[in-house]
Amino acid sequence: MSEPVLLYDTTLRDGTQREGLTVSLTDKLKIARRLDDFGMPFIEGGWPGSNPKDSEFFAAAKGMTWRNARIAAFGFTRNRASRVEDDANIRALIEAETPIITLVGKSWLMHVTGVLGATADENLAMIGDSVAYCLAAGREVFYDLEHYFDGYRDDPAYAIACARAARDAGATALVLCDTNGGMLTDDLVGIIRATRSAVEGDPGAPPVTWGIHVHNDAELAVANSIAAVAAGCRQVQGTINGYGERCGNANLISILANLELKTDYPVVPSGKVGELTDLSNYVAEIVNLNPDDHQPYVGRSAFAHKGGIHGAATAKVEMSYQHIDPKLVGNETRLVVSELGGKANTRLRAEQLGHRLEGVVDPKELSQLVKRLESEGASFEGAEASFELLIRRYETGYSPPFDVLDFTVIIEQREGQELRAEATVKVEVEGEVLHTAADGNGPVNALDAAMRKALGAFYPQLDAVHLVDYKVRIVDSAAATAARTRVVIESAMGADTWSTVGSDTNIIMASMKALTDSLEYALWKGGAELRRRDERHFTTPAAK
Ligand SMILES: [Zn+2]
Repeated sequence: MSEPVLLYDTTLRDGTQREGLTVSLTDKLKIARRLDDFGMPFIEGGWPGSNPKDSEFFAAAKGMTWRNARIAAFGFTRNRASRVEDDANIRALIEAETPIITLVGKSWLMHVTGVLGATADENLAMIGDSVAYCLAAGREVFYDLEHYFDGYRDDPAYAIACARAARDAGATALVLCDTNGGMLTDDLVGIIRATRSAVEGDPGAPPVTWGIHVHNDAELAVANSIAAVAAGCRQVQGTINGYGERCGNANLISILANLELKTDYPVVPSGKVGELTDLSNYVAEIVNLNPDDHQPYVGRSAFAHKGGIHGAATAKVEMSYQHIDPKLVGNETRLVVSELGGKANTRLRAEQLGHRLEGVVDPKELSQLVKRLESEGASFEGAEASFELLIRRYETGYSPPFDVLDFTVIIEQREGQELRAEATVKVEVEGEVLHTAADGNGPVNALDAAMRKALGAFYPQLDAVHLVDYKVRIVDSAAATAARTRVVIESAMGADTWSTVGSDTNIIMASMKALTDSLEYALWKGGAELRRRDERHFTTPAAK
């Protein structure tokens, strides 16, 4: 049995380099807590010398109990011109009081001379001093060899000398970094093997753990990480969902799934792949990025089947078109409702949503209805809530929680002022009619506000619902008489999100349909009961 492969998470440091990703201190602590629960053995919390937020993270982390993880602080080797004990960055690393310090330094001579303005020997001394100082302060030291592979190609002897300098000073892990992310797998493996045999071949060499840290610029980060494991690396650095600068870091979600489900290497965290989908979504939620539907293993579409043949085959033998059982990673097979899919697809999708079609609706009839609506511009692929309502409306005993009787929208812009929109809606709920108006910064925003104001008088729960995303697309209808507009609205209540669709030749009408579905869905799914709450709303009896 080989030594276990330990994952090292740097979502909180390298992951936050991604353009458009920002996290608060609270966010960082939440993610770290979740990674610890997940069993992550190493969590790199940040770069204490670089910004106050990271220093605050370590101050907070000190007082917390970590069940599985050892926290690492990250920083550069000492400055060329300063003594290690006077170096501000090194001091910040020590003050972070983490069990591990991960030092990073140059191993590409061009960077040493061109970027640091140091000589080859000065850089080796900077590595040795910094590792030894952190070690003397009682920390375990991992050493990240920045640009190792590019450096090796430029000057193998110097790159290896850097690795030796860190090892000789006491680093327990030597982490080879493909910082620019451009290495092809065979080249990367060749360099790892050559480096290992040189460094391990030194007489009396102390044992070290080899690590790998790669970026995804050639879209090989996961493949290169797995290949590095096969070449002897036992620490794999990466981020959740592959977040990171440019094209991202190696994605630990896929790495863990691949290692655990498809290889014999023991890996830590172990036995946790069933939580990967949840973990991926949780981190996306905290960093406020939409989960990638097409992310391998954990994306919403990772096991979605659309085509008629795939769909029908999957309905018969679930594994016929998927590489693993999606339940292993906490995901699910999804039959996409689409005009390409036949009635087997439609029936299966309905059943997955908990609806028995037998005796309620003929699957063929439903499939034809879906096809007709899609030919008119709707698409239920990205709008499962509208699809579910479609079935629900067939079921006996269902009465909609409200009816929209009328609505108007006025948009005006006067004398160069800002655009202003006002909407009025008239809704009927259990025999009472309420007429309300609301303003908004655009017609859909105003309609949304007016609808929720009206319905909120009957169903206060709707206050918690909000619009997350609004997408408009022009689609060619089959009739080709007029362009139709498809609107997809994504709504959220707490952690729940759902999507609804509306289509029409008129964008406002399409929006209103999607909006109405969204609110009806929220009320039905939430089991909302009528709770009139506000005496100040005046309603009139419905006209008979
Ligand atoms: Zn990196």
